[in-house]
Amino acid sequence: MTEQDLSNLLQRMTLPEKIGQMYSAHAPTDENLKMVEEGRLGTLLNIGHWNEGGLAARCNRFQRVAVEKSRLGIPLLFGRDVIHGYRTTLPIPLGQAASFDEALVEEGAAAAAREARAHGQNWTFAPMVDVSRDPRWGRIAESCGEEPEMNARMGAAMVRGFQGAGMASCAKHYAGYGAAEAGRDYNTTWIPENHLRNVYLPPFEACVKAGVKTVMSAFNDLNGVPTSGNALTIRQILKGEWGFNGLVVSDWGAVDELITHGYAADGAEAALRAIRAGVDMEMVTTQYETHVEKLLASGALTMTLVDDAVMRVLRVKNELGLFENPYVPEGVEDENANTAATRAIARRAAEESCVLLKNDGLLPLANVKRLAVIGPLADAPEEQVGCWSMDAEYATVVTPLAALRETFDGDISYFPALKTSRDTDESQFAEAVAAAEKADATVMFLGEEALLSGEAHCRAYLDFPGAQTQLLEAVAKKAKRLCVVVMAGRPLIMGRVAELANAILYAWHPGNMGGGAVADLLLGRAVPSGKLPVSFPHCEGQIPVYMGRRNTGRPTPEGARVGVPPGTPLDPKGFTSTYMDCDVNPFYEFGFGLSYTTFEYAGLELSRARVSAGGSLAASVTLRNAGNCDATEVVQLYIRDHAASVTRPLKELKDFKRVFLKAGESCRVTFELTTGQLEFYNAENRLALEPGAFTLFIGGASPSCLSAAFAVV
Ligand code: BGC
Repeated sequence: MTEQDLSNLLQRMTLPEKIGQMYSAHAPTDENLKMVEEGRLGTLLNIGHWNEGGLAARCNRFQRVAVEKSRLGIPLLFGRDVIHGYRTTLPIPLGQAASFDEALVEEGAAAAAREARAHGQNWTFAPMVDVSRDPRWGRIAESCGEEPEMNARMGAAMVRGFQGAGMASCAKHYAGYGAAEAGRDYNTTWIPENHLRNVYLPPFEACVKAGVKTVMSAFNDLNGVPTSGNALTIRQILKGEWGFNGLVVSDWGAVDELITHGYAADGAEAALRAIRAGVDMEMVTTQYETHVEKLLASGALTMTLVDDAVMRVLRVKNELGLFENPYVPEGVEDENANTAATRAIARRAAEESCVLLKNDGLLPLANVKRLAVIGPLADAPEEQVGCWSMDAEYATVVTPLAALRETFDGDISYFPALKTSRDTDESQFAEAVAAAEKADATVMFLGEEALLSGEAHCRAYLDFPGAQTQLLEAVAKKAKRLCVVVMAGRPLIMGRVAELANAILYAWHPGNMGGGAVADLLLGRAVPSGKLPVSFPHCEGQIPVYMGRRNTGRPTPEGARVGVPPGTPLDPKGFTSTYMDCDVNPFYEFGFGLSYTTFEYAGLELSRARVSAGGSLAASVTLRNAGNCDATEVVQLYIRDHAASVTRPLKELKDFKRVFLKAGESCRVTFELTTGQLEFYNAENRLALEPGAFTLFIGGASPSCLSAAFAVV
């Protein structure tokens, strides 16, 4: 249908029918079916779990009522959280980001959409592009980490993937949700507009540019105005400045929560504030349903705003082709699920997401005849699939233990020692320790089970829960050589593991195919290439600690001493931005990740030292694989803007590339940096390019880069 056809349809709609398009209800109940028939409900969430069978038929049953029995025949949207896979789970988004592989992330989203579409779902609530700098926040697992550029690039890749495979995607949670105070979910956020525009909004704008059809307004109170009633972020910036003409849906119950926040006195005011702010569809709660008619009658709300909201919903349905093709084929769900192609994508994503954090030569395991496998996460299918796994098909999950048993050429002795990551019962330790003592090498699988991250699952202590540290210490005493594989939804505090293990592989929650990927990496059939999309803290007291921090007026001197011995006289020169008892830098820095080879960088050259508006410069470097195995390196480009009308980050990720090199080979890697990439929101909150000195960095991790100076003139 054309835009004109949609407007004609709008003209024919009664007010209850319009309000119905602004409402989305949960679950396929009889009551909801009746509302669909009456034209008073346009969207259904959570039609069911694939396991129950017949979801496509169920969707068609509802759709038939909407299309054939309701007065105007407007088709339904079916929404579901397809976040990192559907039946086949992919690594959690934080893990996917560690791959620095946009093409693969796009393929993963497309594969998930194909599985979900076969079950009738046509709208997913992903990607989550909330910049996340606080590992206490459970939803860091669902993010692409701490850098705006990473969230922007991966978010846009997911949008292309989902939508290319026929599902509407939804950039969420707009906006600033990741900045929850104290890392506690749903908590208040205070983000000055300049910081909001420079850090938290760019990933959303990138999704809009990638054509995202929907955006979800968040739960959080942002600078005193909850985001689901925030006219600045939605009406002015998203719909005004960026020209977004798709649909804004509130998060679950977020319109109701305007009352709880203390931003609306009652349901009528909540509905009014949300609609005025630009929230077109209310998720699950019924303030629009109950109050819009009265609000129009009183003149508080105009029909123009209602019509605009309804048009946005109709547009999404039209773009999905639902007016022409409302139904999905039935009985073919399984043909599209867990296909070899999807499993191959999930396997590659898991492999590329693993980050090698330490290796004193233990990995890849060689000359190991007897291997001890220890820990609660070695064989825990329901845990390795990660936080958004309500549709995961556990029976098809390959655990590391299963994969090692199938492929390791030697004896494996397996002792979980703890039932779960939170188990504190040490009574099974002795057998595990004895197995480690007998083995040539030990691999421990430690970390967090799936429910320790994700929505509303925040942690104040970021150590290894339960008695895992005690287990690690006991095993480390006896193991000849020890590798720790961490499965977790967030950065954990790694100090003790780094002291005791010979090698550490960070596998996040790697999804269905994680076991095979981890086994391949441990055994050297694959080479680690992941890099950290987020900084790791030394301890909780250091949070937030992230790469894009500002210099301060008193930056920490290089190599600053940690700790002040008792009796040291007060030294004014020491009055810098440090801790008395902890390093100020992260424990592991953004972009860090080892390989089984070493990569050398040399000969950084810029095509020009001065660049002006509209121009660009080429930055190139020679990358050499100096080791003896073929491998992929993630080459990273950062900038620093030295003086500006607002202070700028010490380092900002601007670009990255995965480069494969055979052992001994080298190549020239070139990036094109445009002045558009150097713009930022200035002191007046306008996007600007400011002249001045910049440093450009290229390297294999944020702290260790070659650098070159250039100027914007
Ligand atoms: C979450 C969203 C999710 C929505 C729908 C909310 O609780 O915050 O991320 O998309 O539920 O399930």
